[in-house]
Amino acid sequence: MRLPFVAQTGCCSVCARPVEGFGGEYLCEECRRNRPFFDRAATALWFDGDARRMLLDFKFNAHLWLRDDFADWLDAAMHARFNVSAVDLVVPMPSSPLHRWDRGYSQCEPLARCLSGMIARRFDPHVLVRRGGATRQSSLPEAARRENVKNTFAVVRPESVRGRTALVVDDVLTTGSTFSEAARVLKDAGASRVWVVALARSTRCC
Ligand SMILES: [Zn+2]
Repeated sequence: MRLPFVAQTGCCSVCARPVEGFGGEYLCEECRRNRPFFDRAATALWFDGDARRMLLDFKFNAHLWLRDDFADWLDAAMHARFNVSAVDLVVPMPSSPLHRWDRGYSQCEPLARCLSGMIARRFDPHVLVRRGGATRQSSLPEAARRENVKNTFAVVRPESVRGRTALVVDDVLTTGSTFSEAARVLKDAGASRVWVVALARSTRCC
């Protein structure tokens, strides 16, 4: 099996989009045009080939034993992009109640829990909640995604994020609009920085 790992150098300083020919700090065209609310992103793999198959099995067929390898890859990607010791709390991207009921579990929670243990940072699965029923993002073009996720999230206990650096964990980064909206809500609640990490990066986002 050959896994398509994302190069960790030559990327946009904010969204981690690979930018050919650049090695230092650089802001990609998309981030200049429409700056996301998160401060930095990291991704480990391209959502393609064997990585895509593994992730879909994890997400839809409950292959939860993949979690430890996934957390290792996330950990490596994060260390290439952030000062991980500055993270105060690890927050899984919440699933909508409907999707959670459908599958019986949230796919991000075990992954974020494992990662928080690995980096010895507080795991908080309750601080960020999804209010409900946004249309599935995968079916929408980019501008519609930003509109679709507006007001999707709420912070339950603002005191637990105030002045902190939050790390939000999700499985796939596509355009970053869901991460950006989660970051906006966390920052409105007082988070000083929001970093985001996804196991895989959609090939459609670059
Ligand atoms: Zn960017």
